Amino acid sequence: MKNISVLGSTGSIGTQTLDVVRNNRQDLNITALCAGTNVSLLEEQVREFKPKLVCVKDESCLSQIKTALADMDVKIRCGMDGLIEAATMPEADIVVTAVVGMMGILPTVEAIKSKKDIALANKETLVTAGHIIMPLAKEYGIKILPVDSEHSAIFQSLNGEKGNKISKILLTASGGPFRGRKADELKNIRVEDALKHPNWAMGRKITIDSSTMVNKGLEVMEARWLFDVPLDKVQVVVHPQSVIHSMVEYEDGGVMAQLGSPDMRLPIQYALFYPERKYLNSKRLDFYALKELTFEAPDMDTFRGLALAYEVGRKGGNAPTVYNAANEIAVSKFLDRKIGYLDIIDIIEHSLKNIAFKENPDIETILETEKNVYELVESRW
Ligand code: NDP
Repeated sequence: MKNISVLGSTGSIGTQTLDVVRNNRQDLNITALCAGTNVSLLEEQVREFKPKLVCVKDESCLSQIKTALADMDVKIRCGMDGLIEAATMPEADIVVTAVVGMMGILPTVEAIKSKKDIALANKETLVTAGHIIMPLAKEYGIKILPVDSEHSAIFQSLNGEKGNKISKILLTASGGPFRGRKADELKNIRVEDALKHPNWAMGRKITIDSSTMVNKGLEVMEARWLFDVPLDKVQVVVHPQSVIHSMVEYEDGGVMAQLGSPDMRLPIQYALFYPERKYLNSKRLDFYALKELTFEAPDMDTFRGLALAYEVGRKGGNAPTVYNAANEIAVSKFLDRKIGYLDIIDIIEHSLKNIAFKENPDIETILETEKNVYELVESRW
């Protein structure tokens, strides 16, 4: 039996993780569930999965969930301390990090120190603190198992290839809803336009990130840390059908790929059962019906967020943190309709120009950089 703590259980990845657990009750058990403010869904989840601990965002949600679960025998916590308690509890074997943004860093670090394997969805953690997380995982002998579909595909394409030299990672991208458009056609994009992803149903922040291709930029940096390859060996290939989830090219020119229907439960389940594969009740690829698989280079002039990701990834230090934090606050302002669509990338560029560069940041410096970016952006937008 594998015991799982889920950080972000009410979100897109969190609910799909619970679906995988629901279908594998004989092998998987939930030890902790953490959410933000969706108390009613969390209550349902607690009644179904009976964890030992639950955690919500703040004191106000805490009193609501305490009332809702008054008849249940469960520890109830809130805030970062609660997330860390859930991530480190002795009963847990693996922690699914499915919260959005940099709040994932501290619980991930503490989970690793408590020798928990990590099923990592929260890419922001590796983007900003990959230089700390990956050596820490090695030191504590734990596995970081990718949940992101592209990274899971790369992970699967590396199976059995130990020691063989990678010449390139080919990270596929759907291109998002605005593929083929130029910058002047993006000026008036509304929130509802950007929330329409052609192939995947995901949380709001990552859906906006996919439309700007900042998500792909974050994924490039995530891949670099997860697979220990130089950034410039990670090449983005636009593949609008999202059938190939990513590929690895080896030095003999052979390319290994993982294909499937777009269903996040597959990479989630793969991470939870690795190295075993289990039956998944999912839509199968029908190769007779697949008319074409097409590929193109990304348009990095229009989708400058992707070009900037390569720049900050090469620069290193706290630059990826500035990029990520500026994007987080800009996307939240766009979702609140306080700024326009193209302002998202302007905010990232403005932050990169104005926040002091720090080499080899520790966790404290990373979190301080995040705070500085938030203050900078708040002072102007
Ligand atoms: P969602 O927005 O759907 O879910 C976020 C989760 O975090 C919710 O459960 C939310 O709770 C919870 N949360 C928010 N604030 C807090 C807080 N202060 N304390 C504890 N929990 C909190 O996001 P996604 O599931 O889409 O994404 C999660 C992560 O996975 C992101 O890093 C994303 O980049 C990555 N990812 C997502 C994919 C997808 O298909 N969705 C694919 C690959 C990676 P509540 O709703 O209750 O407020």
